[in-house]
Amino acid sequence: MADKVKVAINGYGTIGKRVASAVMRQDDMALIGVAKTKPDYDAYVAAKNGIDIYPVDPAKAESKFKAAGIKIAGSNEDMIKKADIIVDCTPGGIGEQNKPLYEKLGKKAIFQGGEEHELAGTSFNAVCNYDEAIGKQFVRVVSCNTTGLARLIYALDKGFGVKKVRATMMRRGGDPNDVKRGPINAIVPDPVKLPSHHGPDLNTVLPNIKIDTVAVKLPTTLMHMHYVNMNLKVTPSRDEVVSTLKQYPRLWLIPSWMNIKSTADVMEFGRELGRPRNDMMENCIWEESVSVDDSGEVNLFQAIHQESDAIPENVDCIRAMMGIEKDAKKSMDKTDKTLGLGNFAPWIQKLP
Ligand code: NAD
Repeated sequence: MADKVKVAINGYGTIGKRVASAVMRQDDMALIGVAKTKPDYDAYVAAKNGIDIYPVDPAKAESKFKAAGIKIAGSNEDMIKKADIIVDCTPGGIGEQNKPLYEKLGKKAIFQGGEEHELAGTSFNAVCNYDEAIGKQFVRVVSCNTTGLARLIYALDKGFGVKKVRATMMRRGGDPNDVKRGPINAIVPDPVKLPSHHGPDLNTVLPNIKIDTVAVKLPTTLMHMHYVNMNLKVTPSRDEVVSTLKQYPRLWLIPSWMNIKSTADVMEFGRELGRPRNDMMENCIWEESVSVDDSGEVNLFQAIHQESDAIPENVDCIRAMMGIEKDAKKSMDKTDKTLGLGNFAPWIQKLP
């Protein structure tokens, strides 16, 4: 194998720590380190795993890391200089502030869905537009909701042609550790003005799809739930729709015998399997919910684990931007194998 791609993670929170773990599982990538603003439990676990930690502002934070007994490896800028590509996982808007540094140091960078499409000029979803990211300096991986919609809509568009999509995103109010967004006791139309931004965001990776979206925030932290309605260009049978969905990677059709009735059950399944951080990176589509009428209208429910579904896309995006794999399918297969997607067997915990 040629030299491994050197990857740095700027921003080590919900997304950053998962991208770091996923990168460590790839034999064509090496994790240079992660940038942290201050020591905390995530920094503690990272350090115990031998991950190099680079404070964002060493002048401010060096003494805090020292007091916490966490060794630092240099400054954020030192980390960026050592890397071939930076995965920027900072909160929305900070990536924009970081871009000039990546430009100054001549580095490639991936931004996340909290940044505007225009910041990178290319938005990414592996199954939809892998080729567009090949060799690029800056690319944005679309948000968790858009990733979930893109995978699903792409599959049915390839299979049958999609005339129009209407999707309702029932969004989690915050991530499980996101106490600053709570306590929560409301259902919030977000945005109130319709349609929501998710449709235009989907069009950054699937430009020809007609789509209207609405979103509400709910008092839950576990997952998003999507209700998706699609008018197809032809009228397939329900079995044809189900078997098409089953052919695509990262779409998991929940069989009814599993008795998974809610997002809580989906996440409990992740826990029972012993998946790292309980992550369910696949679209979790209730097979029973898939219905097709005689005009080619499809309806279904899917649950989306917001903390993890875009992680495999970040891994594929690195391969595309670095030009180390030009074939989308080969990259996705490799990512899915190393992360154990679409195959629950490797994760099943040995119970005492
Ligand atoms: P987060 O708040 O969990 O993590 C961000 C991390 O960046 C924190 O550890 C924070 O301390 C650190 N940070 C803040 N300023 C920094 C700076 N200047 N330099 C380096 N690090 C800095 O946020 P997140 O949920 O991981 O979101 C990151 C990005 O991913 C956002 O664009 C978000 O929209 C997107 N995203 C989030 C989710 C989700 O559900 N959490 C899903 C998909 C995409």
